[in-house]
Amino acid sequence: MTEATHSFWLDVPLKTGLKEGLPQSTSIVVIGSGLAGASAAYFLEKHGFEGITLVDYLPEEAASYRNCGHILYGTVESMKALCEIHGAEKAKELWQFSIDICNQVEQTQKDLSLEMDYRRKGYLVIADSEVEDRECRESVDLLNKMGFQSEYVDSKTIQDLGFKNCFGARYEEGSADAHPVKFRNGLVDAFLEKGGQYYSGVEVLDLEETSDGVRVKTAQGEIQADAVVIAANAYSPLFSGFFKSRGLIDPFRGQIITSKPLKHSFPVQYPHSFDHGYEYAVVTPDNRLMIGGWRNHTDGEMGTYSLKTNSFVEEGLKKFARDHYQIEEEIEWEYSWSGIMAASRTGLPFIGNTSSPRIYSVCGFTGHGFSWAHGSAKLLSDIMAGAPVPEVAKHFNPRVL
Ligand SMILES: Cc1cc2nc3c(=O)[nH]c(=O)nc-3n(C[C@H](O)[C@H](O)[C@H](O)COP(=O)(O)OP(=O)(O)OC[C@H]3O[C@@H](n4cnc5c(N)ncnc54)[C@H](O)[C@@H]3O)c2cc1C
Repeated sequence: MTEATHSFWLDVPLKTGLKEGLPQSTSIVVIGSGLAGASAAYFLEKHGFEGITLVDYLPEEAASYRNCGHILYGTVESMKALCEIHGAEKAKELWQFSIDICNQVEQTQKDLSLEMDYRRKGYLVIADSEVEDRECRESVDLLNKMGFQSEYVDSKTIQDLGFKNCFGARYEEGSADAHPVKFRNGLVDAFLEKGGQYYSGVEVLDLEETSDGVRVKTAQGEIQADAVVIAANAYSPLFSGFFKSRGLIDPFRGQIITSKPLKHSFPVQYPHSFDHGYEYAVVTPDNRLMIGGWRNHTDGEMGTYSLKTNSFVEEGLKKFARDHYQIEEEIEWEYSWSGIMAASRTGLPFIGNTSSPRIYSVCGFTGHGFSWAHGSAKLLSDIMAGAPVPEVAKHFNPRVL
Protein backbone atom coordinates (compact mmCIF):
# COMPACT_ATOMS: atom_id res chain seq x y z
CA MET A 1 0.00 0.00 0.00
CA THR A 2 1.01 3.68 0.48
CA GLU A 3 2.22 6.06 -2.28
CA ALA A 4 -1.41 7.14 -2.39
CA THR A 5 -2.23 10.39 -4.13
CA HIS A 6 -5.07 12.59 -2.97
CA SER A 7 -8.45 12.12 -4.66
CA PHE A 8 -10.88 14.92 -5.44
CA TRP A 9 -13.47 13.37 -3.09
CA LEU A 10 -11.04 13.46 -0.17
CA ASP A 11 -11.15 17.28 -0.22
CA VAL A 12 -14.09 16.51 2.07
CA PRO A 13 -12.31 15.17 5.16
CA LEU A 14 -12.88 11.50 5.78
CA LYS A 15 -14.36 10.74 9.17
CA THR A 16 -11.89 8.42 10.92
CA GLY A 17 -12.05 6.46 14.17
CA LEU A 18 -10.30 6.47 17.52
CA LYS A 19 -6.57 5.75 17.45
CA GLU A 20 -6.40 4.17 20.93
CA GLY A 21 -8.42 2.06 23.35
CA LEU A 22 -9.16 -0.90 21.11
CA PRO A 23 -11.53 -3.19 23.10
CA GLN A 24 -10.36 -6.69 24.05
CA SER A 25 -13.77 -8.15 23.38
CA THR A 26 -16.87 -7.11 21.48
CA SER A 27 -19.88 -8.73 19.86
CA ILE A 28 -19.20 -8.07 16.16
CA VAL A 29 -16.05 -6.73 14.50
CA VAL A 30 -16.57 -5.22 11.06
CA ILE A 31 -13.23 -5.10 9.23
CA GLY A 32 -13.13 -2.23 6.76
CA SER A 33 -14.91 1.11 6.86
CA GLY A 34 -15.33 1.81 3.16
CA LEU A 35 -18.78 1.75 1.58
CA ALA A 36 -19.20 -1.97 2.41
CA GLY A 37 -18.00 -1.85 6.02
CA ALA A 38 -19.67 1.44 6.95
CA SER A 39 -22.91 0.18 5.38
CA ALA A 40 -22.67 -3.20 7.14
CA ALA A 41 -22.12 -1.50 10.51
CA TYR A 42 -25.07 0.82 9.83
CA PHE A 43 -27.49 -1.94 8.74
CA LEU A 44 -26.47 -4.37 11.49
CA GLU A 45 -27.22 -1.71 14.06
CA LYS A 46 -30.56 -1.03 12.37
CA HIS A 47 -31.35 -4.71 12.87
CA GLY A 48 -30.75 -4.26 16.59
CA PHE A 49 -27.27 -5.77 16.91
CA GLU A 50 -25.33 -4.07 19.70
CA GLY A 51 -21.65 -3.83 20.59
CA ILE A 52 -20.40 -3.49 17.01
CA THR A 53 -16.79 -2.41 16.53
CA LEU A 54 -15.79 -1.01 13.15
CA VAL A 55 -12.05 -1.07 12.35
CA ASP A 56 -9.96 0.04 9.40
CA TYR A 57 -6.36 0.38 8.33
CA LEU A 58 -5.07 3.24 6.14
CA PRO A 59 -8.68 4.37 5.67
CA GLU A 60 -7.98 7.08 3.07
CA GLU A 61 -6.55 4.47 0.70
CA ALA A 62 -9.88 2.68 0.33
CA ALA A 63 -11.36 2.42 -3.17
CA SER A 64 -14.58 3.90 -1.83
CA TYR A 65 -13.11 7.42 -1.97
CA ARG A 66 -11.11 6.85 -5.17
CA ASN A 67 -13.93 5.96 -7.56
CA CYS A 68 -15.95 7.99 -10.06
CA GLY A 69 -19.09 8.38 -7.95
CA HIS A 70 -21.24 6.32 -10.33
CA ILE A 71 -24.23 4.49 -8.83
CA LEU A 72 -25.17 2.16 -11.64
CA TYR A 73 -27.73 -0.39 -12.68
CA GLY A 74 -26.28 -3.74 -13.74
CA THR A 75 -22.79 -5.09 -13.28
CA VAL A 76 -19.59 -4.37 -15.19
CA GLU A 77 -20.95 -6.69 -17.92
CA SER A 78 -23.55 -5.66 -20.48
CA MET A 79 -26.83 -7.59 -20.41
CA LYS A 80 -25.71 -9.48 -23.51
CA ALA A 81 -22.50 -10.55 -21.77
CA LEU A 82 -24.34 -11.29 -18.50
CA CYS A 83 -26.70 -13.64 -20.36
CA GLU A 84 -23.78 -15.38 -22.05
CA ILE A 85 -21.95 -15.85 -18.75
CA HIS A 86 -24.82 -16.70 -16.41
CA GLY A 87 -27.84 -17.53 -18.58
CA ALA A 88 -30.88 -15.29 -19.07
CA GLU A 89 -32.72 -16.19 -15.87
CA LYS A 90 -29.82 -15.49 -13.53
CA ALA A 91 -28.89 -12.36 -15.52
CA LYS A 92 -32.41 -11.05 -15.02
CA GLU A 93 -32.29 -11.73 -11.27
CA LEU A 94 -28.93 -9.94 -11.02
CA TRP A 95 -30.20 -6.94 -12.96
CA GLN A 96 -33.26 -6.64 -10.74
CA PHE A 97 -31.06 -6.84 -7.65
CA SER A 98 -28.82 -4.11 -9.07
CA ILE A 99 -31.87 -1.86 -9.41
CA ASP A 100 -33.01 -2.66 -5.88
CA ILE A 101 -29.61 -1.74 -4.45
CA CYS A 102 -29.49 1.56 -6.35
CA ASN A 103 -32.92 2.28 -4.86
CA GLN A 104 -31.46 1.34 -1.46
CA VAL A 105 -28.76 4.02 -1.80
CA GLU A 106 -31.48 6.59 -2.48
CA GLN A 107 -33.57 5.27 0.41
CA THR A 108 -30.64 5.52 2.85
CA GLN A 109 -29.90 9.03 1.64
CA LYS A 110 -33.53 9.95 2.40
CA ASP A 111 -33.64 8.08 5.72
CA LEU A 112 -30.56 9.92 6.97
CA SER A 113 -31.34 13.23 5.18
CA LEU A 114 -27.83 13.15 3.75
CA GLU A 115 -26.37 16.06 1.81
CA MET A 116 -24.29 13.99 -0.64
CA ASP A 117 -24.66 15.67 -4.06
CA TYR A 118 -26.99 12.86 -5.11
CA ARG A 119 -28.17 13.16 -8.74
CA ARG A 120 -30.31 10.57 -10.51
CA LYS A 121 -30.06 11.43 -14.18
CA GLY A 122 -29.17 8.08 -15.77
CA TYR A 123 -26.14 6.46 -17.38
CA LEU A 124 -24.89 6.35 -20.98
CA VAL A 125 -22.86 3.34 -22.13
CA ILE A 126 -21.24 4.76 -25.25
CA ALA A 127 -19.94 2.42 -27.95
CA ASP A 128 -16.41 2.88 -29.22
CA SER A 129 -16.71 0.46 -32.13
CA GLU A 130 -19.30 -1.05 -34.43
CA VAL A 131 -19.06 -4.31 -32.50
CA GLU A 132 -19.86 -2.55 -29.24
CA ASP A 133 -22.62 -0.57 -30.93
CA ARG A 134 -24.28 -3.87 -31.89
CA GLU A 135 -23.80 -5.12 -28.34
CA CYS A 136 -25.53 -1.97 -27.02
CA ARG A 137 -28.53 -2.57 -29.30
CA GLU A 138 -28.70 -6.24 -28.35
CA SER A 139 -28.47 -5.43 -24.64
CA VAL A 140 -31.27 -2.86 -24.98
CA ASP A 141 -33.45 -5.49 -26.72
CA LEU A 142 -32.69 -8.09 -24.06
CA LEU A 143 -33.37 -5.64 -21.22
CA ASN A 144 -36.65 -4.49 -22.78
CA LYS A 145 -37.79 -8.10 -23.35
CA MET A 146 -37.11 -8.78 -19.66
CA GLY A 147 -39.26 -5.77 -18.76
CA PHE A 148 -36.44 -3.36 -17.84
CA GLN A 149 -36.11 0.22 -19.06
CA SER A 150 -33.20 0.81 -21.43
CA GLU A 151 -33.02 2.70 -24.70
CA TYR A 152 -30.72 2.91 -27.67
CA VAL A 153 -29.34 6.38 -28.45
CA ASP A 154 -28.05 6.84 -32.00
CA SER A 155 -24.62 8.19 -32.90
CA LYS A 156 -26.00 11.52 -34.20
CA THR A 157 -27.60 12.19 -30.80
CA ILE A 158 -24.38 11.18 -29.04
CA GLN A 159 -22.51 13.70 -31.17
CA ASP A 160 -25.13 16.39 -30.47
CA LEU A 161 -24.66 15.69 -26.75
CA GLY A 162 -21.02 16.80 -27.01
CA PHE A 163 -19.06 13.60 -27.71
CA LYS A 164 -16.97 12.78 -30.78
CA ASN A 165 -15.47 9.68 -32.43
CA CYS A 166 -18.21 7.56 -30.91
CA PHE A 167 -20.98 5.27 -32.13
CA GLY A 168 -24.39 4.84 -30.49
CA ALA A 169 -25.10 4.21 -26.82
CA ARG A 170 -27.31 2.48 -24.31
CA TYR A 171 -29.11 4.67 -21.78
CA GLU A 172 -30.63 3.65 -18.45
CA GLU A 173 -32.49 6.42 -16.67
CA GLY A 174 -32.34 5.00 -13.12
CA SER A 175 -28.60 5.19 -12.56
CA ALA A 176 -27.21 8.02 -10.44
CA ASP A 177 -24.09 9.58 -8.99
CA ALA A 178 -23.11 11.04 -5.65
CA HIS A 179 -20.22 12.14 -3.45
CA PRO A 180 -18.88 8.87 -1.96
CA VAL A 181 -17.13 10.46 1.04
CA LYS A 182 -20.24 12.41 2.04
CA PHE A 183 -22.37 9.26 1.78
CA ARG A 184 -19.95 7.08 3.71
CA ASN A 185 -19.37 9.76 6.41
CA GLY A 186 -23.14 9.95 6.86
CA LEU A 187 -23.33 6.19 7.41
CA VAL A 188 -20.53 6.32 9.99
CA ASP A 189 -22.18 9.25 11.81
CA ALA A 190 -25.46 7.32 12.01
CA PHE A 191 -23.61 4.24 13.29
CA LEU A 192 -21.75 6.22 15.97
CA GLU A 193 -24.88 8.07 17.07
CA LYS A 194 -26.49 4.73 17.96
CA GLY A 195 -23.53 3.64 20.09
CA GLY A 196 -21.20 1.94 17.61
CA GLN A 197 -17.45 2.03 18.18
CA TYR A 198 -14.97 2.93 15.46
CA TYR A 199 -11.16 2.57 15.46
CA SER A 200 -8.76 3.58 12.71
CA GLY A 201 -5.23 2.43 12.01
CA VAL A 202 -5.96 -1.13 13.14
CA GLU A 203 -4.19 -3.58 10.86
CA VAL A 204 -5.90 -6.95 10.99
CA LEU A 205 -3.34 -9.71 10.41
CA ASP A 206 -5.29 -12.92 10.91
CA LEU A 207 -8.61 -14.38 12.01
CA GLU A 208 -8.71 -17.46 14.23
CA GLU A 209 -11.89 -19.30 15.13
CA THR A 210 -12.11 -20.26 18.81
CA SER A 211 -14.62 -22.43 20.70
CA ASP A 212 -16.78 -19.42 21.51
CA GLY A 213 -16.02 -16.89 18.81
CA VAL A 214 -13.31 -15.42 16.66
CA ARG A 215 -9.96 -14.02 17.68
CA VAL A 216 -9.16 -10.99 15.55
CA LYS A 217 -5.39 -10.63 15.57
CA THR A 218 -4.24 -7.12 14.79
CA ALA A 219 -0.91 -5.33 14.85
CA GLN A 220 -2.40 -3.30 17.70
CA GLY A 221 -3.61 -6.24 19.84
CA GLU A 222 -6.26 -8.95 19.83
CA ILE A 223 -10.03 -8.60 19.92
CA GLN A 224 -12.24 -11.52 20.91
CA ALA A 225 -15.52 -11.29 19.00
CA ASP A 226 -18.70 -13.34 18.74
CA ALA A 227 -18.70 -12.76 14.99
CA VAL A 228 -16.68 -10.99 12.32
CA VAL A 229 -17.63 -9.30 9.06
CA ILE A 230 -14.91 -9.13 6.42
CA ALA A 231 -15.54 -5.90 4.49
CA ALA A 232 -12.04 -5.19 3.20
CA ASN A 233 -12.74 -5.95 -0.46
CA ALA A 234 -9.46 -6.35 -2.39
CA TYR A 235 -7.51 -6.44 0.89
CA SER A 236 -9.50 -9.36 2.34
CA PRO A 237 -7.05 -12.12 1.25
CA LEU A 238 -4.27 -10.34 3.15
CA PHE A 239 -5.71 -11.46 6.49
CA SER A 240 -8.44 -13.99 5.69
CA GLY A 241 -7.24 -17.56 5.13
CA PHE A 242 -10.59 -18.33 3.51
CA PHE A 243 -10.11 -15.79 0.73
CA LYS A 244 -6.39 -16.37 0.42
CA SER A 245 -6.53 -20.17 0.13
CA ARG A 246 -9.41 -20.18 -2.34
CA GLY A 247 -8.05 -17.40 -4.54
CA LEU A 248 -11.52 -15.85 -4.77
CA ILE A 249 -10.32 -12.26 -4.96
CA ASP A 250 -7.44 -10.54 -6.73
CA PRO A 251 -6.57 -6.86 -6.40
CA PHE A 252 -6.36 -4.58 -9.40
CA ARG A 253 -5.68 -0.90 -9.79
CA GLY A 254 -7.93 1.68 -11.40
CA GLN A 255 -6.88 5.26 -12.08
CA ILE A 256 -8.73 8.57 -12.48
CA ILE A 257 -7.85 12.13 -13.48
CA THR A 258 -9.97 15.19 -12.76
CA SER A 259 -9.83 18.62 -14.34
CA LYS A 260 -10.14 22.06 -12.85
CA PRO A 261 -13.70 23.41 -13.26
CA LEU A 262 -14.41 23.84 -16.98
CA LYS A 263 -15.33 27.35 -18.09
CA HIS A 264 -18.25 26.07 -20.18
CA SER A 265 -20.62 23.49 -18.90
CA PHE A 266 -20.58 20.13 -20.70
CA PRO A 267 -24.08 18.95 -21.79
CA VAL A 268 -23.82 15.48 -20.18
CA GLN A 269 -23.07 15.83 -16.48
CA TYR A 270 -24.31 12.36 -15.48
CA PRO A 271 -22.27 9.10 -15.51
CA HIS A 272 -21.15 7.74 -18.85
CA SER A 273 -18.63 5.21 -20.07
CA PHE A 274 -16.92 4.15 -23.28
CA ASP A 275 -15.32 1.01 -24.69
CA HIS A 276 -17.19 -1.63 -22.65
CA GLY A 277 -16.78 0.50 -19.50
CA TYR A 278 -12.98 0.59 -19.72
CA GLU A 279 -13.20 4.38 -19.66
CA TYR A 280 -15.77 6.00 -17.38
CA ALA A 281 -16.54 9.61 -16.56
CA VAL A 282 -18.79 12.11 -14.85
CA VAL A 283 -18.94 15.91 -14.63
CA THR A 284 -18.93 16.99 -11.01
CA PRO A 285 -21.44 19.52 -9.65
CA ASP A 286 -18.67 22.16 -9.82
CA ASN A 287 -18.16 21.31 -13.52
CA ARG A 288 -14.96 19.25 -13.48
CA LEU A 289 -14.45 16.43 -15.95
CA MET A 290 -13.56 13.30 -13.98
CA ILE A 291 -12.43 10.40 -16.16
CA GLY A 292 -10.91 7.04 -15.32
CA GLY A 293 -9.82 3.84 -17.00
CA TRP A 294 -7.23 3.02 -19.68
CA ARG A 295 -5.89 0.15 -17.57
CA ASN A 296 -6.59 -2.34 -20.36
CA HIS A 297 -3.87 -0.67 -22.46
CA THR A 298 -1.09 -1.63 -20.08
CA ASP A 299 0.18 -4.50 -17.96
CA GLY A 300 0.87 -4.14 -14.30
CA GLU A 301 -2.53 -3.00 -13.07
CA MET A 302 -3.52 -6.52 -11.97
CA GLY A 303 -2.32 -8.13 -8.76
CA THR A 304 -0.94 -4.94 -7.21
CA TYR A 305 -1.68 -3.09 -4.00
CA SER A 306 0.49 -0.12 -4.95
CA LEU A 307 -1.37 3.16 -5.21
CA LYS A 308 1.37 4.78 -7.25
CA THR A 309 -0.20 6.40 -10.30
CA ASN A 310 0.87 5.19 -13.72
CA SER A 311 1.95 8.06 -16.01
CA PHE A 312 1.19 6.00 -19.13
CA VAL A 313 -2.41 5.59 -17.95
CA GLU A 314 -2.62 9.28 -17.05
CA GLU A 315 -1.45 10.39 -20.50
CA GLY A 316 -3.77 7.84 -22.13
CA LEU A 317 -6.73 9.30 -20.25
CA LYS A 318 -5.83 12.87 -21.24
CA LYS A 319 -5.62 11.85 -24.88
CA PHE A 320 -8.87 9.93 -24.60
CA ALA A 321 -10.60 13.07 -23.27
CA ARG A 322 -9.21 15.17 -26.14
CA ASP A 323 -10.37 12.58 -28.67
CA HIS A 324 -13.88 11.95 -27.31
CA TYR A 325 -15.23 15.25 -25.92
CA GLN A 326 -16.11 18.34 -27.93
CA ILE A 327 -14.49 20.63 -25.39
CA GLU A 328 -12.92 23.63 -27.09
CA GLU A 329 -11.05 25.06 -24.13
CA GLU A 330 -7.69 23.65 -23.01
CA ILE A 331 -8.53 21.19 -20.21
CA GLU A 332 -6.40 21.82 -17.13
CA TRP A 333 -5.95 18.63 -15.09
CA GLU A 334 -5.76 19.04 -11.32
CA TYR A 335 -6.09 15.60 -9.68
CA SER A 336 -4.72 12.17 -10.51
CA TRP A 337 -5.16 9.17 -8.24
CA SER A 338 -5.54 5.43 -8.20
CA GLY A 339 -7.46 2.92 -6.10
CA ILE A 340 -7.53 -0.83 -5.63
CA MET A 341 -10.65 -2.80 -6.38
CA ALA A 342 -11.32 -6.52 -6.44
CA ALA A 343 -11.53 -8.95 -9.31
CA SER A 344 -13.86 -11.65 -8.05
CA ARG A 345 -13.56 -15.19 -9.40
CA THR A 346 -17.32 -15.46 -9.90
CA GLY A 347 -17.67 -11.92 -11.22
CA LEU A 348 -20.03 -11.38 -8.28
CA PRO A 349 -19.53 -10.35 -4.66
CA PHE A 350 -19.24 -12.81 -1.76
CA ILE A 351 -22.01 -12.16 0.76
CA GLY A 352 -22.68 -14.48 3.68
CA ASN A 353 -20.86 -17.09 5.77
CA THR A 354 -17.36 -18.11 4.90
CA SER A 355 -16.27 -21.61 5.94
CA SER A 356 -16.80 -20.48 9.54
CA PRO A 357 -20.36 -19.87 10.80
CA ARG A 358 -19.03 -16.87 12.73
CA ILE A 359 -17.04 -15.22 9.97
CA TYR A 360 -19.11 -13.44 7.35
CA SER A 361 -18.04 -11.55 4.26
CA VAL A 362 -19.27 -8.70 2.13
CA CYS A 363 -16.55 -8.21 -0.44
CA GLY A 364 -15.54 -8.90 -4.04
CA PHE A 365 -16.63 -5.60 -5.58
CA THR A 366 -15.30 -4.46 -8.91
CA GLY A 367 -16.30 -1.36 -10.88
CA HIS A 368 -19.93 -1.10 -9.73
CA GLY A 369 -19.08 -1.22 -6.04
CA PHE A 370 -20.76 1.99 -4.89
CA SER A 371 -24.29 0.64 -5.01
CA TRP A 372 -23.24 -3.01 -4.76
CA ALA A 373 -21.24 -2.48 -1.55
CA HIS A 374 -24.13 -0.66 0.11
CA GLY A 375 -26.85 -3.04 -1.09
CA SER A 376 -24.76 -6.14 -0.39
CA ALA A 377 -24.14 -4.92 3.16
CA LYS A 378 -27.90 -4.61 3.62
CA LEU A 379 -28.31 -8.16 2.32
CA LEU A 380 -25.60 -9.44 4.66
CA SER A 381 -27.25 -7.74 7.63
CA ASP A 382 -30.55 -9.45 6.68
CA ILE A 383 -28.77 -12.82 6.47
CA MET A 384 -27.13 -12.30 9.88
CA ALA A 385 -30.42 -11.19 11.43
CA GLY A 386 -32.30 -14.18 9.99
CA ALA A 387 -34.57 -11.84 8.02
CA PRO A 388 -36.09 -12.92 4.68
CA VAL A 389 -33.66 -12.60 1.78
CA PRO A 390 -34.34 -12.62 -1.97
CA GLU A 391 -33.62 -15.73 -4.06
CA VAL A 392 -30.73 -13.94 -5.77
CA ALA A 393 -28.72 -14.20 -2.52
CA LYS A 394 -27.72 -17.76 -3.41
CA HIS A 395 -25.50 -16.47 -6.23
CA PHE A 396 -23.33 -14.57 -3.74
CA ASN A 397 -22.65 -17.47 -1.38
CA PRO A 398 -18.90 -17.26 -0.54
CA ARG A 399 -18.76 -21.09 -0.38
CA VAL A 400 -20.11 -21.44 -3.90
CA LEU A 401 -16.74 -22.50 -5.34
C1 LIG B 1 -10.41 4.02 -9.83
C2 LIG B 1 -11.69 3.40 -9.39
C3 LIG B 1 -12.90 3.83 -9.94
C4 LIG B 1 -14.10 3.26 -9.55
N1 LIG B 1 -15.28 3.80 -9.99
C5 LIG B 1 -16.45 3.33 -9.52
C6 LIG B 1 -17.68 3.98 -9.81
O1 LIG B 1 -17.73 5.03 -10.41
N2 LIG B 1 -18.82 3.42 -9.35
C7 LIG B 1 -18.81 2.28 -8.62
O2 LIG B 1 -19.88 1.79 -8.27
N3 LIG B 1 -17.66 1.69 -8.24
C8 LIG B 1 -16.49 2.19 -8.66
N4 LIG B 1 -15.31 1.65 -8.24
C9 LIG B 1 -15.36 0.48 -7.35
C10 LIG B 1 -15.76 0.85 -5.93
O3 LIG B 1 -15.12 2.03 -5.53
C11 LIG B 1 -15.40 -0.31 -5.01
O4 LIG B 1 -15.90 -1.51 -5.54
C12 LIG B 1 -15.99 -0.09 -3.62
O5 LIG B 1 -15.66 1.18 -3.14
C13 LIG B 1 -15.52 -1.16 -2.67
O6 LIG B 1 -15.86 -0.74 -1.38
P1 LIG B 1 -15.39 -1.57 -0.12
O7 LIG B 1 -15.88 -0.87 1.08
O8 LIG B 1 -15.78 -2.98 -0.32
O9 LIG B 1 -13.80 -1.55 -0.20
P2 LIG B 1 -12.78 -0.36 0.08
O10 LIG B 1 -13.42 0.95 -0.13
O11 LIG B 1 -11.54 -0.66 -0.67
O12 LIG B 1 -12.50 -0.48 1.64
C14 LIG B 1 -11.64 -1.45 2.15
C15 LIG B 1 -11.55 -1.23 3.65
O13 LIG B 1 -10.77 -2.28 4.22
C16 LIG B 1 -9.87 -1.72 5.16
N5 LIG B 1 -8.73 -2.61 5.31
C17 LIG B 1 -7.90 -3.06 4.33
N6 LIG B 1 -6.96 -3.88 4.87
C18 LIG B 1 -7.20 -3.94 6.19
C19 LIG B 1 -6.59 -4.61 7.27
N7 LIG B 1 -5.53 -5.42 7.11
N8 LIG B 1 -7.07 -4.42 8.51
C20 LIG B 1 -8.14 -3.61 8.72
N9 LIG B 1 -8.80 -2.96 7.71
C21 LIG B 1 -8.32 -3.13 6.48
C22 LIG B 1 -9.52 -0.36 4.59
O14 LIG B 1 -9.04 0.51 5.58
C23 LIG B 1 -10.88 0.08 4.04
O15 LIG B 1 -11.61 0.70 5.04
C24 LIG B 1 -14.10 2.21 -8.60
C25 LIG B 1 -12.90 1.78 -8.04
C26 LIG B 1 -11.70 2.37 -8.41
C27 LIG B 1 -10.44 1.92 -7.77
